[in-house]
Amino acid sequence: MILRRVIAHFRRQEWAAIAIDFVIVVLGVFIGLQVQAFAVERDRQKSERDYLTRLHGEVEQLLETRARYDRSRTKFSVDLLGAVKVLDDAEGITPLSLDQCDAVAGSAHTTVPPAELPTVAELLSTGRLDHLSSATVRTAILTYVQDAVRARDLIVVITDSGRDLGKAHPHLITHHVGASRIRIEEVWLNPECRTEAMRADPAFRNELSENAYMYNVYTTRAVLPVSRQLAALHAVLDAEMSIAHPEKNDVTP
Ligand SMILES: [Zn+2]
Repeated sequence: MILRRVIAHFRRQEWAAIAIDFVIVVLGVFIGLQVQAFAVERDRQKSERDYLTRLHGEVEQLLETRARYDRSRTKFSVDLLGAVKVLDDAEGITPLSLDQCDAVAGSAHTTVPPAELPTVAELLSTGRLDHLSSATVRTAILTYVQDAVRARDLIVVITDSGRDLGKAHPHLITHHVGASRIRIEEVWLNPECRTEAMRADPAFRNELSENAYMYNVYTTRAVLPVSRQLAALHAVLDAEMSIAHPEKNDVTP
């Protein structure tokens, strides 16, 4: 239509009308592009909101799961150091407590706590991290991912160096499988420790000290820092999405 009119104007050399046609065409294209850009931006904002909402839900759930790991690993670590102290006292007569015996028997079991956030995996694998407009959120996500990877590598090294004391010293530790006290993977163990014999065995005490040291590194350098970084990511998401939580959801480092 417009083209036919423009050709007619050209034939009659109506320059003013040609100019008006030109402006109409340019304006039409311009408005069309603006509308398209607006729709694209609206879609991006909606997908950003969806990603942030999903991510926030996953972070909350993972924080809850990891809090259990943080507590049990910290307690295990304290019990192990307590056991080392009890056994190092040559004149001592105190037996290992049940918890300390559990820790000694399980001192080589350093598993990787869950750290996966499916939304982050999706954002990274599809190259859509840039869909999140906040640089603070993007940095918090990347820092968390890096810390989680570093922690996993460290845990693999620690796990390789750990010595299963129950296997190495069966005369000092007896596992009564079934009657449950501690759970390692899916097997429930009820270890029994012979404190006096342990105290008299320097090789055993050396190995226990090494395991206790490594377990402490596992807890303080691999498990807890990742949870702290996850809590930091949570705080950034809360600020970005203007979410306020009651005190109990806060994770104390
Ligand atoms: Zn929150």
